[in-house]
Amino acid sequence: MMRVLFVTSECFPLVKTGGLADVSAALPPALAQLGIDVRVLLPGYPAVLDGLEGRRTARPLSDLPGGGSGRLIAGHLANGVPVYAIDQPELFDRPGNPYLAPGGADWTDNPLRFGTLGWVAAGFAQTTSSHQWRPDLLHGHDWQAGLMPAYVAFQGSPRPATVMTIHNIAYQGQFPPDLLPALHLPAHSFQVDGIEYYGGIGFLKAGLYYADRLTTVSPTYAREVQSADYGCGLEGLLASRTDQFDGILNGVDYGIWNPATDPHLIRPYDPDRLDAKIANKVALQAGFGLAPDPDAPLFALVSRLTWHKGADLLLAALPALLARGGQLVVLGTGDKSLEAALLRVAGSHPRAVGVHIGYDEALAHRIQAGADVLMVPSRAEPCGLTQLYALRYGTVPLVRRTGGLEDTVIDATPAALADGCATGFAFDDPTPGALVWAIRRAIDLFHQRDRWQTIQRRAMTRDFGWDASARAYAGLYQRLISGRQAPSP
Ligand code: ADP
Repeated sequence: MMRVLFVTSECFPLVKTGGLADVSAALPPALAQLGIDVRVLLPGYPAVLDGLEGRRTARPLSDLPGGGSGRLIAGHLANGVPVYAIDQPELFDRPGNPYLAPGGADWTDNPLRFGTLGWVAAGFAQTTSSHQWRPDLLHGHDWQAGLMPAYVAFQGSPRPATVMTIHNIAYQGQFPPDLLPALHLPAHSFQVDGIEYYGGIGFLKAGLYYADRLTTVSPTYAREVQSADYGCGLEGLLASRTDQFDGILNGVDYGIWNPATDPHLIRPYDPDRLDAKIANKVALQAGFGLAPDPDAPLFALVSRLTWHKGADLLLAALPALLARGGQLVVLGTGDKSLEAALLRVAGSHPRAVGVHIGYDEALAHRIQAGADVLMVPSRAEPCGLTQLYALRYGTVPLVRRTGGLEDTVIDATPAALADGCATGFAFDDPTPGALVWAIRRAIDLFHQRDRWQTIQRRAMTRDFGWDASARAYAGLYQRLISGRQAPSP
């Protein structure tokens, strides 16, 4: 049986700031279904240590980056997936966000915290004890796991295979070079063909340089990040490894995101009971204090509120949306100026705009069920999950044509409508004008009830479950491991 260690800084429901947590929760059980022994390694944040079932100490950890020591805790998630957590209180026993101090700045010791994640991961492969679990392959996610492939590369052989997945290339983990000794990195690694990145230590750069194989979370994003517009400085490295770089779409956990069984909804529904969706809409309007009008097209945004997510584009397009009788609900946190601007519009249009600043899983479900249109106006979107949830909830996605949004939403062009394959709306330019045009198209169709329901039903029956993605990862793992075991020519 193939053994894989998933190295990640987030995993729902223990710790989540974004889509990475959902992927870390859903892909391992989908891989386990295919007969792979997958285990997850996480930093031991308080919520992780508290939330693990069947906790026990697996082994002591010493000489960690920064010189500390700790313990490796073993346990499992409610779904049975085995989890290891790094219990090192000086690094991880802190309240709140995994990356940010209460003031909103990065924790200053993040390089040591996530260097430790990579270091402990690489240590799994070094065990000589037959009692300890030894992975054949380490799969790292995002910059927080970026040093793992570097540490593995500096180990003696035999060493495990390594895969690095980019969930968002905008976050790269770049730190001063004087941390080299504290991070147990050899001096010779500090070069362009190594971990050096614009004069510092690049965590994601290191991962992308040393891992045997690279992936990202949609085919379109895999193409985009090889260009200067999207690569954020790493485009050259990625283009040079294009043959070892795949885009594999994320999936949805339909056990959690299913309008027929969702416990958060006022009333469940499915493609044959679409009328029941209206009860959820009216409840959502009431909850936000909006006019309780089933005929007003209700748009929604559930998102981190950042420039990348295009929250500013939505603000600029909002007057046109309201002028056409639309309503908007927003759930999100992020840039303080965007939060304040959204709250201001809600204050001046209390019957048409509702804004909830904060993180609220249950409300995210109720919005997916109650809204008519789910907006994802991102400037860049590696895969995007909210549009996939929206499709299943018959909440028509309106997206910018980029990354995974382009791969998962079929724009309601006249041809697509005639074909019956349209599932949403897409626009190209990241400008308010292009977004307004898409909003107008959405509102026009919303008022044509039969055509709208055709789009909803088509959207609800598209399958973006994890099975296909898990098979793609399993195939990649298998090829990598058997390639390494083959005798050299
Ligand atoms: P990203 O990972 O870039 O933030 P994704 O679309 O891949 O974007 O994933 C976002 C995930 O976070 C989705 O599961 C979405 O429902 C959730 N989410 C985002 N903001 C909030 C919020 N304020 N409250 C609840 N869930 C949220």
